[in-house]
Amino acid sequence: MQKTKSLLPLSLAVALVVVTLVRSRAKSEIEWSDSFLVMDTVAEIHIWSDRHLGFESLRDSILEEMVWLEKLLEMGRVTVRRSGRSDIPDEVERLIELSDSAFHLTRGLFDPTVGSVTRLWDFSLNATPPHPDSIRNALNLVGLDRFMAGKICDDVVLDFGGIAKGYAADCAIDFLRRVGCPRAIINIGGDLSILGKRKDKKPWRIAIRHPRCDSFIGYLDVYECAIATSGDYERFFIYNGKRYHHIIDPRDGMPASRCQSVTVVANSAWLADALATALFVMGPEEGSKLASELEGVDAVFVFAEGESVLVTDGLKGRFKRIDKE
Ligand code: ADP
Ligand code: MG
Repeated sequence: MQKTKSLLPLSLAVALVVVTLVRSRAKSEIEWSDSFLVMDTVAEIHIWSDRHLGFESLRDSILEEMVWLEKLLEMGRVTVRRSGRSDIPDEVERLIELSDSAFHLTRGLFDPTVGSVTRLWDFSLNATPPHPDSIRNALNLVGLDRFMAGKICDDVVLDFGGIAKGYAADCAIDFLRRVGCPRAIINIGGDLSILGKRKDKKPWRIAIRHPRCDSFIGYLDVYECAIATSGDYERFFIYNGKRYHHIIDPRDGMPASRCQSVTVVANSAWLADALATALFVMGPEEGSKLASELEGVDAVFVFAEGESVLVTDGLKGRFKRIDKE
């Protein structure tokens, strides 16, 4: 097995990612992996191949693109001035386009214009919720449909924190496919994209983090696909005994409270990422209905109370709960 010197101790990487890989390797294969800090989280690259592909240079190209995207998004948020949309970089236009599809698929619950609200929230340890008046004012600038129709006349803050990591994982996998890489997994803070089949033809086994302990709640057996998880445990603070976290309901500007986590399986990581955020806001009942309606989409919901898990039909027999064994 070849491994580059990791930039992070593995324990830190494992602690920070939402989904971690449980994997095994065929004997004749080279397995190469590396991890680094980017886009405010830990990114991991795993490549399996019969021959050496110049892994370090592939990693450098992938990292360069992620750093570039991170800079472009000014740590996740872009302010679009009222003067017009003409000077928006192509990559941001692409993210707006993808967000618009996600907005319509999720009946407006995935909405990057929620940036006007998210910038009011601070999720450091001793933070407190923003004043209700400032949330109310910020909600006047929320509505991707109104933004697209040019109906919002003030500066709009676009927050791509709920889609950019998935998008970056897709770009990295597309690049690896183009250079002839047979099998790979890109994992950016728990949003991951899988390229190819395992050499032994078995499914990839992906563990899902337990929302309340430093362990796993279960695992999924999947083939080539993308998987993303949204949870209330990534960025949060407790104030007066209540948990406030970073997934915001665009209807009231407050953290959504119907789930502890949602994991989405889809054909692309941008979609899995955006849907995980929106299905989290919807909650298990409405969210599972929507997931079942969408072609190629499935989900695992951990309810707000933490005991029950709901798995959509396409994942029945492919999800195994392990925290209750
Ligand atoms: P994580 O970033 O932990 O993987 P998500 O993919 O759910 O989790 O993204 C959460 C981020 O998405 C928030 O930090 C914020 O930047 C942005 N966001 C929060 N609520 C929404 C929403 N309703 N629609 C779109 N983006 C959102
Ligand atoms: Mg997301």
